[in-house]
Amino acid sequence: MTHSTPAAVRTRIAPSPTGFLHLGTARTALYSWAYARHHGGVFVLRIEDTDVARSTQDSVDQILASMQWLGLGYDEGPFYQMQRLERYSAVVAQLMAEGKAYHCYSTPEELEAVREAKRALGEKTLYDGRWRPQPGKTLPSIPAGVQPVVRFKNPADGDVTWNDLVKGPITINNREIDDLIIVRTDGIPTYNFAVVVDDWDMAITHVFRGDEHMNNTPWQINIFNALGAALPQFGHCPVILGDDGQKLSKRRGAVSVTAYEEGGYLPEAMLNYLARLGWSHGDDELFSSEQLVSWFDGSHLNKSPAQWDPAKLLWVNAHYMKAASNERLASLVTAQLAKRGMVPDERLIDICALFKDRCETTVVLADWAAAFYADVTPKSEELAQHITDVIRPVLALLAEKLAACVWDKSTIAAAIKEVLTAQGLKMPQLAMPVRVLVMGSAQTPALDAVLALSKREIVLQRLAQA
Ligand code: GLU
Repeated sequence: MTHSTPAAVRTRIAPSPTGFLHLGTARTALYSWAYARHHGGVFVLRIEDTDVARSTQDSVDQILASMQWLGLGYDEGPFYQMQRLERYSAVVAQLMAEGKAYHCYSTPEELEAVREAKRALGEKTLYDGRWRPQPGKTLPSIPAGVQPVVRFKNPADGDVTWNDLVKGPITINNREIDDLIIVRTDGIPTYNFAVVVDDWDMAITHVFRGDEHMNNTPWQINIFNALGAALPQFGHCPVILGDDGQKLSKRRGAVSVTAYEEGGYLPEAMLNYLARLGWSHGDDELFSSEQLVSWFDGSHLNKSPAQWDPAKLLWVNAHYMKAASNERLASLVTAQLAKRGMVPDERLIDICALFKDRCETTVVLADWAAAFYADVTPKSEELAQHITDVIRPVLALLAEKLAACVWDKSTIAAAIKEVLTAQGLKMPQLAMPVRVLVMGSAQTPALDAVLALSKREIVLQRLAQA
C-alpha cells in the first residue's frame, strides 16, 4: 500500500456497531461530514467491529439507517475492520521487524498483581515493561502455553504534542503512558492500533471525535510516527451533558438517533440542533444543512460541554414542522398512525395543514390526526366543564342543522353562526363543547375547519354523546 500526502480534506466517522447511533457519535459524524463538504473533500464511513462479542449486523444496519435519515451521505465505505485483519497483521509484522513492537507473555493475573503493587505505592498503574526489549536487557524465558499479546514500544520519554482543533495545544509526557497492547491474544488488533492503520490507509486528514478519546490520542500519534505516517489533525468535542449535568446516557433518556426519529422529530431539525450543540455561527439558531456546510470550517467549536436541552430541540423541531410540506408530514404521520393500527385517508394532508402549526413533533400531529380515524375519549373534567344542561339543547339544534347542510367549511360556518344568533350565544360557548365532544379537546383550530375535515356521521354521533 502506498501513502502519498493527501491533496484533499478527508474525514471519517468510525462507529462501533454495538448499539444504535449515539447522539454524540451523530454529532461528530455531522461535523466530519460538514467539514469534508465545506472543503469539497471526502467523508469516509468505517465500521469498527473488532469488539466481536458486542458487534452486531443489526447495529450496523441501524447506524447506516440513522446516517441516511440524517442525510449524512458518505463517499467511501462502509469499511469493516474485521475485513482488514490481514492488513493489520502486515503492519504489526513490520513494526515487530523494526523493533517497534514486541510480544508480551504477562498473564492477566501477573498484570493485575503489578497494578495492585503500584496502586499500593500510590503510583500510576502502568505496565512494568517486563517484556519490553532493551539493549543489554535479558528478557524472561517464554512460558509454555501462554499466547502472547503484541505491545507497541512507546517512546520512553519526551512529549507528545498536538494542536487540537477544539481544545488547542495539548502536551502529554510519554512517561504518563505505557506500552499499549496492539494485538490481543486472539490475534485481533485493539482499537488504538486499528484506528491508526485505517486513518493512515484511508488518508484521513481530520479526525473529529468525542473527547473520551483524548487519552488515546498520544498513543495513536506515537504509532503514526512509528509508521512514518502523516498525522491527521484531531478535534475532540466535549461530551454532551444531560439536564442533570451528567454525561448523557441511556439511563437518563433517549440517546440514540433512532429514538428521536421514532419520537416524531424531523431529520433537518436533529441536524440543526446537533450541529448547534457544540458549535456556533454567530447568533444563528436555525439553519439548513447547506448553510451549515458553507459555514463549517472547523472553527467555533465549543471547548466546554454542551447541555442537551429537550425544550430547545422541540422548539427547533416545531420550526421545521411548520416549514415542512403537508404531503411530507402526512406520510410521516401515516407511519405514526400505522403503529397505532390506524389507516388514514386522503383527508390527512389537509389535517396536517390545519394542525401542524400547533405541533412540535409528528407524534403530536398524529395524536390530533387520530381523532379523525379512531374514537376519542374526552376527559371527564372537560365534559363536566363544557357539557352543561344549558348547552345540550343548543348542541342538538346544531346537530340538526349539520345533519342537513352541505358538508363544506363555509356552509358549516354558516350553520354554526345561525345557531349562535338564534340562541344569543358567543362562539366559544358553543365551540368549546363541540370541540370537546368531536375532538376530545377544547383547544383546536377553527371549528368550521375541523368539522369540515371530519365525517358528518362521526360528528353527529359524537354530538349525540352530549
Ligand atoms: N469506534 C470509536 C468509537 O465509536 C471511534 C473513535 C474514533 O473516532 O477514533 O468511539
